[in-house]
Amino acid sequence: MAPSKPRVRFAPSPTGYLHIGGARTALFNYLYARRYGGTFILRMEDTDQERSTPESVKAILDGLNWLGLDWDEGPGKEGAYGPYFQTQRLDTYRAHADQLISEGKAFRCYCTREEIALRREVADKENRAYRYEGTCYGLTAPPAGKKLEDAVIRFRMPTGDGEVSYDDKVLGVITKPYSDLDDWVMMRADGIPLYNYGCVIDDHLMDITLVARGQEHINSTFPQLMLYKALGWTPPAFAHLPLILGPDREKLSKRKHPEADVMLHARTGIMPEALLNFVVRLGWGHGNDEVISREQMVEWFDFDGVGSTSGVWNPEKLQWLNQQW
Ligand code: GLU
Repeated sequence: MAPSKPRVRFAPSPTGYLHIGGARTALFNYLYARRYGGTFILRMEDTDQERSTPESVKAILDGLNWLGLDWDEGPGKEGAYGPYFQTQRLDTYRAHADQLISEGKAFRCYCTREEIALRREVADKENRAYRYEGTCYGLTAPPAGKKLEDAVIRFRMPTGDGEVSYDDKVLGVITKPYSDLDDWVMMRADGIPLYNYGCVIDDHLMDITLVARGQEHINSTFPQLMLYKALGWTPPAFAHLPLILGPDREKLSKRKHPEADVMLHARTGIMPEALLNFVVRLGWGHGNDEVISREQMVEWFDFDGVGSTSGVWNPEKLQWLNQQW
């Protein structure tokens, strides 16, 4: 059944250039939104303040603009299109964290990273999986020697025999028992949300109906689903896209594969249409046409056609495609 007006997003962390994997995520989301008359949102997950830079924001925008993947909405006045920036939404994250704390679903945790690392070492030596031991559960004031401002906000994972499960549009049903999940940090002491937390709050408040992203985020989906449950919110659907391998069959990475930079291709005479044709085939199958137009991509794309087999980056194929224009 055709989804009615889906809302999807591309949520890059602006810590480097737009790479082929990001371009594929953006493209699939964009095509899906265009095909079904939906909305494509761009959200900069710029909360890693050491690594996020304005140059990377610009590099990502340049890459999307060059590929013609335009997004639809953003904060501010009508007509002022995004992107959204997570660092401009800190009050929102704070408010929901306070609510979760008052309901006992999250707590202020004063354990330092060093303390946790030591306890983890002990657990490793004793050959048991480390779990947060609840040191700060039930505290109503900071323990001796610590201040309220020192506390991170930690999600309190329900215990017991439960399990969390979802039906991935690409991979099918995936299940994890509660015992595999631990209490996790939602927000740092300085009020900056960590990825899983900011992502859920935003996906919900932005009415996202389908989250399509790389497979490296499958494990994050489970703590995220637990948070939806704690907040009483219905989660979106999820589609985790297959890995992309380099010509050496290693996972395509910015470090090992400089050719993964989208704008490198713009500078070396590749047409955006050629790159789009190459990228759209990284995990999506439809018909036998080697070259398709943007309109055909919009007409045909759906996540049903996305498989779990890795896509392979093949520079010769890209060169061949580039000669077709
Ligand atoms: N900021 C995350 C990334 O760039 C987004 C993951 C997601 O789409 O949820 O990998």
